[in-house]
Amino acid sequence: MRLITVLNRCFKFNRFVFESINFDEINRIIVSVKPRKNSKPECRVCGRFSSTYDTLCEPRMFEFIPIWGFSIFFMYKMRRVSCAVCGVRVESVPWHMGNNRRHRLTWDF
Ligand SMILES: [Zn+2]
Repeated sequence: MRLITVLNRCFKFNRFVFESINFDEINRIIVSVKPRKNSKPECRVCGRFSSTYDTLCEPRMFEFIPIWGFSIFFMYKMRRVSCAVCGVRVESVPWHMGNNRRHRLTWDF
């Protein structure tokens, strides 16, 4: 059974898909997450869904629940949303409390 299957059983995010899973050079499990096709990003400030303004170049890492002693990180390139009310804002993602950039843990962790 693949780890993606396990993740999909436990943590289904409607607007995102688990794309691939790999070990990095220091034996962390890196789960690449991407937005589901045609999903609109959610404004971090007001919660409205709007069109994508752009996608940040550098992926962000979010620490997830470790498994069998391995650290697990979600890796995701944040989109910026073009919100009619708030302007251009970084999107909100369901696995992370968006207000604190330095806080890297996922909700589930
Ligand atoms: Zn907004």
